[in-house]
Amino acid sequence: MDWLPTFDVIRLGHRVDRDKRMTSHLGLTARALGADGMVIFGDHDPSIVQTLTEVSGRFGGKFNARFGTNPMGYLKKFKQGGEDCPAGTVIHLTMYGESHLEALPKVRRDRPVALVVGGAKVPGELFGIADYNVSVGNQPHSEVAALAITMSEWFKSVALESRFSNPEIKVLPSKSGKSIFDRKKEPL
Ligand code: SAM
Repeated sequence: MDWLPTFDVIRLGHRVDRDKRMTSHLGLTARALGADGMVIFGDHDPSIVQTLTEVSGRFGGKFNARFGTNPMGYLKKFKQGGEDCPAGTVIHLTMYGESHLEALPKVRRDRPVALVVGGAKVPGELFGIADYNVSVGNQPHSEVAALAITMSEWFKSVALESRFSNPEIKVLPSKSGKSIFDRKKEPL
C-alpha cells in the first residue's frame, strides 16, 4: 500500500487552567509515536498549538495540531468521510472498553484513524459513535499512558524516525552522553 492512512489523536474536554501540561504531553507523545496531528476540543488555548508547531520545526516532520469545535459532529463526519477523505475509524480509549490487545488487530489499516482520549467526563454518546471502545487495562490511569501504549502497539512495525524530515536538530541514539546533529553547525 503506497498510501499511508492518517492517524490523528482527538483530545476532548481540554481545560485551560488544569490541562495545559497534560494536553501538551499528549501532543508531544502523539507526534513522537507516529501521529499526523491532534485535534483539541474544549477551551481554546493557542499556546499548545504553538508549542507543538515549534517542536516540529526543530525536530522535524509535520504535525498538524489544531483546535476544533463540536467534537461529536467532527467524529461523525470523520466516520462518514467525504469527497477528499475516505471514511475513517474512530477508536475511543476508555477504561470500560475491550482490551487493546484484542481490539487493535481488528482495526482496518487502510483507513484513517481518529484515536480519542478524554479529559473531564466524556459524553456518553461517544461510546456509540466509536467503532471501538478500547481499554489499556480496566483500571483508571492517564490519557498519556493509554495513548502511548496503544500507539506503540499500533505502530510497532513502522520505522517512525524516518517520518521526521527536515529537522533543525536531530538526536542520535548514544550509549553515553548526548549525540546531536545541528543543521546550523553541520549539514545532516
Ligand atoms: N474522570 C474522567 C471521567 O470520569 O471520565 C476520566 C479521566 S481519565 C484520567 C482521562 C482519559 O484517560 C479517559 O477519558 C481515557 O481516554 C483515558 N484512560 C484512563 N484510563 C484508561 C484505561 N484504563 N484505558 C484506556 N484509556 C484510559
